[in-house]
Amino acid sequence: MAAAGVNVVRMGEFAWDRMEPVSGKFDFSLFDETIERLAAVGVKTIFCTPTATPPRWLTAGHPDWMRIEESGRRMQHGSRQHVCTNNEEFRAESRRITKALAEHFAVNPNVIGWQTDNELYCRFALCYCKSCQAGFRDWLRAKYVNIEALNKAWGAAFWSQTYRDFDQILLPHTTTSPASPNPSQELDRYRYVSDSVVEFQRQQVQVLRAARGDWFITHNGLMGNIDYWKFTEDLDFLGADIYPGFGARDAASSVATSYGQAKACSAGGNFIVPEQESGPGGQKSFMLRTSQPGVMRLWAYQSIAHGADGMMHFRWRTCRFGAEEYWCGVLDHDNVPRRRYREFSQEGSELKRIGHQILGTTVDVQAAVLCEFETDYAHETMPHGLPSPSEQGHLAYNYLSHCHLRCGVVQTQDSFEGLKFLIVPSMCLMDQSLADKLAMFVTGGGLLFVGGRSAIKDRDNHVIPQTPPGLLASVVGCTVEEYGKMEPGTLGLLAGRRHMRSGPWYEILQPRGAQVLATWQVPSNLGPWAAADGPAITINRYGEGLAMYCGTMLTQDNVAGLIDLALEHAAGISPLAQCPYPDVEIVRRQGQGRKLLFVLNHSRQRQTVRGVKGLELITDRQIDGPLEMPAFDVAIIRES
Ligand SMILES: [Zn+2]
Repeated sequence: MAAAGVNVVRMGEFAWDRMEPVSGKFDFSLFDETIERLAAVGVKTIFCTPTATPPRWLTAGHPDWMRIEESGRRMQHGSRQHVCTNNEEFRAESRRITKALAEHFAVNPNVIGWQTDNELYCRFALCYCKSCQAGFRDWLRAKYVNIEALNKAWGAAFWSQTYRDFDQILLPHTTTSPASPNPSQELDRYRYVSDSVVEFQRQQVQVLRAARGDWFITHNGLMGNIDYWKFTEDLDFLGADIYPGFGARDAASSVATSYGQAKACSAGGNFIVPEQESGPGGQKSFMLRTSQPGVMRLWAYQSIAHGADGMMHFRWRTCRFGAEEYWCGVLDHDNVPRRRYREFSQEGSELKRIGHQILGTTVDVQAAVLCEFETDYAHETMPHGLPSPSEQGHLAYNYLSHCHLRCGVVQTQDSFEGLKFLIVPSMCLMDQSLADKLAMFVTGGGLLFVGGRSAIKDRDNHVIPQTPPGLLASVVGCTVEEYGKMEPGTLGLLAGRRHMRSGPWYEILQPRGAQVLATWQVPSNLGPWAAADGPAITINRYGEGLAMYCGTMLTQDNVAGLIDLALEHAAGISPLAQCPYPDVEIVRRQGQGRKLLFVLNHSRQRQTVRGVKGLELITDRQIDGPLEMPAFDVAIIRES
C-alpha cells in the first residue's frame, strides 16, 4: 500500500461482530494492531461505524427490529442493512457501539476521521415496520400540530380520506392499494424517510463529536430517498461512492457518470470518494464489466475533476468469501500485484506529486441544472409516465458537458451567484421564495431556461389555481393555454430554420410580453390539432436578463436543439477548449490564484484538443499548441 502511494484507508464498517463478539464485551485488538501497522508506513485511518450489519446476538429475539416491505414481508438476518434505523431500541444500540468506538479511538492519533454507517438506504428505504408507522405519525404531529391542517394539506376530502386523529394514519401503500395513494401523503412520507435517516446519522455524529472535536465526519452516498443537502449539514463533507461501471457502457455513458459527482458537489461542496471502482463489482445477481487498461485511473481523475478532494479505491484485496467475493479490488484473491495494482500505483504516485496543487480549488460552474429532492419526489408521487426532473436535468447536463462548457448542478437552496445560465427541468413544485430567487437571477443578467410543466404545484403537492406557470409567469412573460401528453416526437418545433422534435408533452403558450421563439408544427397526417402553429417556446426580457419558456420536455432527441437555442441568447458563455469530440470531457477547477483544466479522454481513440495553454502537471510539460490525448488518458493543465 505504501509503495502504491496510499496515505489513508477506511475500515470497520461491517465488523460489529468482530468489535463486540458478545454483548458488552468489546475487542478492538485487530483494529488497534492494524491501525498501528499502517501508521508505521505513513497510512492514516478513517474508521467507520458498523451499524449496517448488526450481529446475530443483537438481532436474535428482536424480530420487530427488522425492516418490513410494503407487502408485510419481514427481512431476515443473514445479509446487511436488515435492521430498521428508525427503531428506537436499535438507535440506542447504534449510539452505544459508536460511543464505545469513539472513546476507544479518541486517544489514537492515527484515526483521523469517521464514516457513519455505510451507504444508508442503499438497499431498503421504504420500511413499513411499527417504528416507521409510529415515526411517521410523530413527524406529522410535529409538522401539522392539528389534524385539520393535515387534512387540508393532504386534500384528504378526495376519496373520503379525512382523518380525525394522527393515530389513524398509515404510511402510504403503493403496491398494496387498489388505486393510487394520496400524492401529498406520499410526498410527506418521502420527506419523513429522509428526515429520519438524517436523525439516525445525527445521533452518531453527536457521539463522535463529543469524543473528539478535531475528527472529520463523512458518509458514503449517494443513494435514493435522502435529501443530501440536509443530510450533509451534520457532516464536515460528503462522501460519494463512484461506480461508473453500473451505467458506463461506452465513452458517452462514461462521460455521463459525472452527473453523479456534480450532484454530490451540489449537496455539500467538495467531497471525498470513499469507494472508487477498481475492478468489476459483483454480487449474486450481477457482475459489472471489466474496464479496459487506463479506465480505472481515468474514472478516478473524473471524480477529482468534479470536486473530489480525497480518493479511496474499493477495495484493497478482493475478498475470498462472503456475498462480495467477486467485488474485485486493486489486488486479486491471490494477493499478486498485477495490472490494476500498477494502474493504482501510477495514480498514487501522480497524486502524491501534484495533489497539493489541486487541493484548495473548486469546480468552475457557469451553466447549471437546478435540482431539488422535494421536486424529484413530488414527481415520483405522480409521474404520469413522463421523464422526471432528474432525468431531464441529466440530459441537459450531459449536453452542456459535451459542449465543453463550465457546467454543474445547483440546488434550490444554493446561491445562484456567478451563474450565467440556469436550467429548470420541469420542476413541478414552486414557492414564492424560490420564484423570487429565480426572478432575481434573471434581473441580474442571467439566462433562465424553464421546461414545460414547471411550477404547477405548491409545497403541499397540490396543483395551483393560477394559470401555469403560476409564480413564474411574470418572469417568463407567458402562460400555458393548453397542455397535453403524446408520444415523444409526435409534433415538431420550428425556431427559424431549426427543426426540433417534441418530448412526450406539449403546451400551447400565450405570450404575455415574451417573444415567440418557436412554434408547433403538426404533421398533416395527424388531422386537427389545437397546437398547429401555436407558440411552443418563448423568450422574455426581464431586467438585465432573459427567461426562456419551453412548452415541452427534454428528451435525448431534442436536448441539443433546445439547449442550443437557449445558448444563442447566452452572453459570456464559451467552451473551455476547442474539441469536436463529446467523448473528451473538459472541466476546470479554480481557486487560490490557480486555474486547473482537467482533460479526460473517455474514447478509445487518440483525440486532439485545441486552445489550451499552460503547464501539464502530470508530465510536467508546457502545452502551447494542440494537446494530443491518447485513449483513456488524462491531462491536468495549470492554465497560464
Ligand atoms: Zn422501519
